[in-house]
Amino acid sequence: MRVMKFGGTSVGDAERMRGVVALVEEARKAERVMVVASAVSGITNLLVEAAKVAQEGESVQEACARFDDTHSAIAKVLSVDLKPAQTRPLAEGLVALGVELRGLLQGVGLLRECSPSVLAHLSGLGERASCLLLAAMLEARGLEPVSVDPRQALVCSGDPLQATPRVEEIRARFATLREGGPGLMLMPGFFGGDARGKTMSLGRGGSDYSAALAAAALDARLLEIWTDVDGIFSADPRLVPEAFALEEVSFEEAMELAYFGAKVLHPKTIAPARERGIPVRVCNSFRPEHPGTRVTATAPLSRHPVRGLSFLPDIALINIAGAGLKGVPGTAARVFEAMARASISVVLITQGSSESSISFCVGEAEATRAVLALEDAFEVEREAGKVDPIEHQPGLAVLSIVGDGMRHRVGVAGTFFSALADVDCSIAAIAQGSSERSISAVISREDGPRAMAHVHRKAFGTTEVVELLVAGVGTVGGELLRQIHQQAPKLRAHGLDLRVCAIANSRHSLVAPEGVALDGWKARLEASESGFTLDTFRAWAKARRPGRPIFVDCTSSEDVALGYPALMASGLHVVTANKKANAGRQEHWKALRETAVRHQRKFLYETNVGAGLPVIDTLKNMLRTGDTVHRVEGILSGSLSFILGLTEAGVPLSKAVGTAMEKGFTEPDPRDDLEGTDVARKVLILARELGRSLELEDVALASLLPEEFDAKGPLPEFLARLPQADELFQRRVDAHRKEGKVLRYVGSVGPEGVRVGLVPVPLEHPLAAVKGGENALSFLSERYSPTPLVIRGYGAGAAVTAAGVLADVLRLVEGPLP
Ligand code: ADP
Ligand code: ASP
Ligand code: MG
Repeated sequence: MRVMKFGGTSVGDAERMRGVVALVEEARKAERVMVVASAVSGITNLLVEAAKVAQEGESVQEACARFDDTHSAIAKVLSVDLKPAQTRPLAEGLVALGVELRGLLQGVGLLRECSPSVLAHLSGLGERASCLLLAAMLEARGLEPVSVDPRQALVCSGDPLQATPRVEEIRARFATLREGGPGLMLMPGFFGGDARGKTMSLGRGGSDYSAALAAAALDARLLEIWTDVDGIFSADPRLVPEAFALEEVSFEEAMELAYFGAKVLHPKTIAPARERGIPVRVCNSFRPEHPGTRVTATAPLSRHPVRGLSFLPDIALINIAGAGLKGVPGTAARVFEAMARASISVVLITQGSSESSISFCVGEAEATRAVLALEDAFEVEREAGKVDPIEHQPGLAVLSIVGDGMRHRVGVAGTFFSALADVDCSIAAIAQGSSERSISAVISREDGPRAMAHVHRKAFGTTEVVELLVAGVGTVGGELLRQIHQQAPKLRAHGLDLRVCAIANSRHSLVAPEGVALDGWKARLEASESGFTLDTFRAWAKARRPGRPIFVDCTSSEDVALGYPALMASGLHVVTANKKANAGRQEHWKALRETAVRHQRKFLYETNVGAGLPVIDTLKNMLRTGDTVHRVEGILSGSLSFILGLTEAGVPLSKAVGTAMEKGFTEPDPRDDLEGTDVARKVLILARELGRSLELEDVALASLLPEEFDAKGPLPEFLARLPQADELFQRRVDAHRKEGKVLRYVGSVGPEGVRVGLVPVPLEHPLAAVKGGENALSFLSERYSPTPLVIRGYGAGAAVTAAGVLADVLRLVEGPLP
């Protein structure tokens, strides 16, 4: 015996019904079959809605007409397959259901009331209609289906909308069908009946449960749930596009997944099958050749400790607390008794419950009633001030990870919670199933989809999405985009989907949640209408898309730098090539780091000093591992090292500056380099890394330009006057050369303070060899002494700087990259 349950989409139209008949015919060749059918998809919603409308006293004509039309349209298409012996009773049967529906709705309209019992009856009409259609089709194929009325067979009691089946009684009622009954049976799903045969609903999605109850009562060999997806997925495929169909899961895993929201199975479906050891197969009626998912007692453990994720929205967290609860026996019993009396089911009891507070989750729709019930139960204590006002927090959801393989495995919960932190998702409460096969986090409902997607990636190692919002598209920003474009396919092969979702400057922007196409971005950017402000970036983060958003600052704007704390607070990590934040006021420097810690956001800025050279990281590691750094000094300006290289070769200063400008090695106004401000900023940043608290004004700064030379005024005038400095400068160069020394523009942090200026160094000094746009830094420390640690290489230019920015971005992503 096999029980085959067909869901709403599987009987959704005439073509689908033909498919069902073909599947049944095939199964019938091998064994006895019971078919359990849902309503045509959309019909149950229509009926429930119509009951509401009737209760409001409004017209239900349209709803009734849609009920009739949907079914008669299917009957009409199917009529070519039918003989008059089926056509006539089918048409009459459908008309009779239409009449029944109108009668019920009229009653509801007159009374302005729809009792649970009436709603149960009304909402089951869809299943009865689809069974009439299937019966006619099966008969026409000569299959002789025997109709089973669930109101007689599935005996229930309790709430007419969430009925409790009476298993023993059901087994008795199925006895004749079980023992040598007909070869093919057909039963509408979704409802049973009370002792007198009145309709009792099994709750929304309950046809799965009907089928499971029937399978248990019939001692079936197999229960098949035919639906519109390839089985039970690792997560709801509508929420997580990367989710995949599972081959086999255990009864317990299926139960937990369904309980915590995997809609593919009604939460109660598995219990009857498990009790009788009946394997369940969840399969796709749109792709019958796909094996689907098998639910068995002996499912092998999965490769990953987590088998699947589920998501239960519309949850509220209730908290009862108070000093008066401490050490008083029976408090928990009273809390849950109050819920039971009010017929409110408790979805989850949190790990946070302690002697003086208990918190648990219920459906959001029940939250107010739950609070009232508790207020009643603890009235005396509340009046005596021993219990605080009872709170409830709506708008939540439960995200659960489920898997038999999680038992006795270390680190699963850690991975789960840190994945939630990755996507800036705060956890209101947690709970672990007593069997250790599920862990649930109560989170905000809005966070659900992106949290699901990210936890899924972490649990199954599927592609991780990182979203970059790039501000500033000058030389560094532009080169960064070029490098990402080139490197993206390689990274994707290693499971990282690096998407540039926004490219912007103050005038223009390109935005695409799925990623901006990087060929020809420049022309499209320039054609765009509006720029991006910091608020738009924040709004992006707040929109809570799946993926980890990183703000990448390639501007040199002070305003943008001042916005980092707000961006972090809204959930963005920050990677910056812009020195303005770290070289700004000390107070801002400190606040920035505090914000990063508070919001668990990363702030990376390796390119602030020495472009792509690993300066900041090296320094941090020395300090972290307990080294004491005595002195850091070096050449920190690629442009100045280029200019000095030329003057040494006899090129006049003004010419050397001109060449550097032409090559794009200087800031637009070369005085920013020549006067040393840029180097001063870098040295300031290093000094702060070393723990010093100081401002830019505290850096002793000496310009590269001779003191006697007037460097003020508009840029063209300055450039025109610059040749006057040539001779003064050359004289200095020559004077030092005679002593065997060369001039280097050096920044240093040492016991004497923080300084920037021209320093004559002997030819054999390591810094003497540094020229042509190179940077070099030496770190003299407890461990690196007397020979300092030296880092040297190109310290300017778009290629190395952009690569440094990209490296910071990749540092934010763990896991095996190339
Ligand atoms: P039916 O009408 O066949 O009973 P349902 O709509 O009740 O179908 O259930 C199938 C749907 O459940 C799928 O289309 C899918 O969107 C959703 N779903 C949610 N979680 C899961 C999951 N873990 N695996 C498969 N489907 C899921
Ligand atoms: N048709 C019912 C519903 O939509 C039962 C089911 O589909 O399982 O809830
Ligand atoms: Mg269903």
